[in-house]
Amino acid sequence: MKPGPDIAFDLIVIGGGINGAGIARDAADRGIRTCLLEQGDICNGTTRWSSRLIHGGLRYLEHAELGLVYESLRERETLLRIAPHLVRRLQLVIPIYRGARRGRLIITLGMWLYDLLSMRKSFPRHEMLTAAEALETLPFLKPEGLQGAASYHDAQVVYAERLVVENILAARAAGAQILTYSRVDRVLTAGRRVTGVRYTDLRSDRQHDLTAKVVVNAAGPWVDRVLEKLGTPPRKLMGGTKGTHIIVPGFPGQPKVACYLEAESDGRPFFIIPWNGMLLIGTTDIRYSGNPGTVQADADEITYLLDETNRVYPNAGLDRTSIYYCYTGVRPLPKKTRGTEGDITRRHIIKHHRHIAKGLYSVIGGKLTTYRHLAEEVTDRVARRIKLRGAKCRTASDPLPGADGEYATTVDVLDSCAALHPESREHLLNVYGCRAELIKALVDDDPELGAEICPHSHAIAAEIVFAYEHEMPTTIADVLLRRTMIGLSSDQGRAALPRAVAIARRHQGWSQARADEEERRYLREIDRMRP
Ligand SMILES: Cc1cc2nc3c(=O)[nH]c(=O)nc-3n(C[C@H](O)[C@H](O)[C@H](O)COP(=O)(O)OP(=O)(O)OC[C@H]3O[C@@H](n4cnc5c(N)ncnc54)[C@H](O)[C@@H]3O)c2cc1C
Repeated sequence: MKPGPDIAFDLIVIGGGINGAGIARDAADRGIRTCLLEQGDICNGTTRWSSRLIHGGLRYLEHAELGLVYESLRERETLLRIAPHLVRRLQLVIPIYRGARRGRLIITLGMWLYDLLSMRKSFPRHEMLTAAEALETLPFLKPEGLQGAASYHDAQVVYAERLVVENILAARAAGAQILTYSRVDRVLTAGRRVTGVRYTDLRSDRQHDLTAKVVVNAAGPWVDRVLEKLGTPPRKLMGGTKGTHIIVPGFPGQPKVACYLEAESDGRPFFIIPWNGMLLIGTTDIRYSGNPGTVQADADEITYLLDETNRVYPNAGLDRTSIYYCYTGVRPLPKKTRGTEGDITRRHIIKHHRHIAKGLYSVIGGKLTTYRHLAEEVTDRVARRIKLRGAKCRTASDPLPGADGEYATTVDVLDSCAALHPESREHLLNVYGCRAELIKALVDDDPELGAEICPHSHAIAAEIVFAYEHEMPTTIADVLLRRTMIGLSSDQGRAALPRAVAIARRHQGWSQARADEEERRYLREIDRMRP
């Protein structure tokens, strides 16, 4: 189906982040004729700049957001069920130091409440540790002033990008049209009713109109910008805050346990998380009203994260040269000018702009953790609006594509492939789940495609071919950063880049000039992530 002015969709979704992708998946699965437009590649925005935790949000208990914590804990369980290859349990330890704002009593109470809200879930209950037990679990902790610790479990999605990609793949398989590099320029209305969108295909630089009964603006921190060009734009909805993470080497013998700390300088909570063989440290939380697409880390944020980490891990001796790369994103939070950034709710709001354009909805706020439930709520409203009855939401039980198969069989299939190194097999399972069998089939046809192209992630040549054949990338950056996960390695895929481009060039028939330009553009894109 080719997009054009005469195509009428039931639903147009603006934005291919986790929320837009989740909505497109649910809607298409219920038989709603859906088109998703994304101005860049899939997962081009905030979702890939998050802490990648699938968590109840212990911190929200301080703000009495019990409903949000309960919803998040339920969704944590759901995501472990529908995407077990991507979402994994993670142990976290909260060290308790003498004189901290949150003392033993508050932390113990928080832990009991968290357990209570997690009832009937598969996670173990919390444990309170003595100082000696805490040091045994996290040997790098500063021992001075350590009174003990709380240990509990949440979950982590190491490759949040893949969670988005798999939702998009499921949406497409269910019949959704997915248009990447397609920027919505304006929402179209007739009278007080939404009628569709005008967008620019950024590859051809041509404008098109699409019609639909309902438009959902899931543009994350860009939500207000999408609404700006309406005849009567609503008042500003978003009040984003920016958050930075740094990525540093893991310590020798680093356990797979995350540390959840209170920063000494301002009492804000922050995480030191084992991630992708390294440590992900963050985050900051600073009001931000600039362009979400060009947001970058400030020197002060980097210093804050390094200092606070060195304070609790005194032997870490981290400085700017220790940082592999850093990243910054804007939380798409509801506007709230008073109070601290941490006070702004992380709940989502679905806003129907009924006074401006009936059938136009905006998604404000939300968490990666709760995307599926948000998508279900939005799709319920779309279904009611287009008077669709009887089609039930199945996203809480139907697995995402990488979990749609027998994992143990996939492990056996990969083990049977002599052309694959054990590290590459593990990488394939972690990134693609059961779909790794499709990559192995490419290697069976051409054993040269089994060659490792990235010494850090152990990704193989076949993945570049697979991405272009099955996962809709356009540029080499799409392939390295948002499909194969090569670009998240400590060298950000620099070692793999020439081979990856050569394979893409052969497969896609690129000219030498295009291949050179792809390499240059990739290096420019990762340059933004320099500390
Ligand atoms: C620092 C930080 C840490 C976080 N940590 C966590 C965490 O650990 N756990 C958790 O649950 N949540 C976390 N979050 C929150 C979570 O990441 C976000 O709530 C979520 O990713 C938002 O997803 P989204 O799809 O709404 O937005 P996005 O991912 O930003 O997607 C919006 C998309 O819309 C596209 N778009 C914009 N304008 C247009 C247009 N005109 N036309 C077409 N497309 C357009 C953008 O390119 C973008 O891809 C964190 C957020 C931040 C910033």
